[in-house]
Amino acid sequence: MPAPQRPPSVDALARQLADIDLPHPLLVDAARQAIAAGAPDSARAIAEQVAMTLLRPVVNATGVLLHTNLGRAPLAAATGRGGAGGDGALRYSNLELDLLTGKRGSRSGHAASLLARAMGAEAAIVVNNGAAAVLLVLAALARDRDVVVSRGELVEIGGGFRVPEVMAESGARLVEVGTTNRTRLRDYGAAVAGGDPALILKVHQSNYRIVGFTQSVEVRDLAPLGPPVVVDIGSGLLDADTPWLVGGPPAWLAGEPAARQTLAAGAALVTFSGDKLLGGPQAGVVAGRRDLVAACAAHPLSRVVRPGGLVLGALQETAMAYLRKDGQAIPFWRMAAAPVDELRRRAAALGVGRPVDTVAVAGGGSVPGQELPSAGVAVDGDRAAALRAHDPPILARVHEGSTICDLRTVDPADDPVVAKALA
Ligand SMILES: *Cc1c(COP(=O)(O)O)cnc(C)c1O
Repeated sequence: MPAPQRPPSVDALARQLADIDLPHPLLVDAARQAIAAGAPDSARAIAEQVAMTLLRPVVNATGVLLHTNLGRAPLAAATGRGGAGGDGALRYSNLELDLLTGKRGSRSGHAASLLARAMGAEAAIVVNNGAAAVLLVLAALARDRDVVVSRGELVEIGGGFRVPEVMAESGARLVEVGTTNRTRLRDYGAAVAGGDPALILKVHQSNYRIVGFTQSVEVRDLAPLGPPVVVDIGSGLLDADTPWLVGGPPAWLAGEPAARQTLAAGAALVTFSGDKLLGGPQAGVVAGRRDLVAACAAHPLSRVVRPGGLVLGALQETAMAYLRKDGQAIPFWRMAAAPVDELRRRAAALGVGRPVDTVAVAGGGSVPGQELPSAGVAVDGDRAAALRAHDPPILARVHEGSTICDLRTVDPADDPVVAKALA
């Protein structure tokens, strides 16, 4: 009987994987795991799988502009003010330094005040995400007090953001008024008259719609009731008039609440995400009355939910683009506003597959049911897995036996990547 082969040493096996772009300790882990499983030959597959789980750029050909699994709004490659040397590298920044006085400054002085300016708010602060913005407002302004919310707005927004639960975490007391489909002004009025609520909270339904026998109350009717009205508008559309787009608001924006108009209607504060229709990095924004924003900033939780310099740098770029009315500088709006004829022309120019008209969506829980006319190419069969395995990975949609690459969500610079992968 031949002697059983000795398993290769962990180190020797790891060195055979050196061509895989992973730090040595991770190759050692893969080798160790394969040997422990009695299958040293599986080490390469294990290491390749680890490499696939790393964050990396992908091509979004799904036609979903704000794809939650792909990080919502796309970011421009270079963020920040282009580095001290203007080469795009982020080095030190004046994150909390006042360059005029040389004294300590505020990190809300940059992105937040620019955004406030762009939406016509007195003041704003930036936090980590939309959920943190709502939590901070409730904790800072309504702890141990009542907050009035319509039963039609006790929503869950993807991934576990549930209004009643956030309210409980904040220490505020939820006072529900109205019914699931209809809430009237007198429902709010009775709750205000019968108690001493700290706030009235309105929450945008975002990712669903109640249709039929429904009624809700506008901000302009709630504002005179007394308590500050806080509106969680969700998607961060800054201005319903979209002055950053040539030709004004597109039809698919219909009905989406916007920060500027919500504040003008009498809301004391609005809260929203940075990476939905705002088109910036993951962040949350609280904007509106100066005294209420200051109370939020002074609350201990604001330190817990504050963003870092990378996020604030990217958000500052986004805010500057809005102030310049330059939608082309915001990748989400550049993609959303591309004329469908241009997408058709790009689809034909790929030279592979069948050019087809498609339907894209905003996604990310914004404007549900609204469609954006789009174009792309189709190939026969389900090629989704093969495209995902491509380098860089391409995410496509499979529909009725065809694989469709929608070009609305693809940067034109990536067209050759899509063409090569399909070929
Ligand atoms: C998306 C959304 C949130 C949560 O925002 P995140 O940035 O995902 O934390 C909260 N409220 C509304 C109305 C939303 O649409």
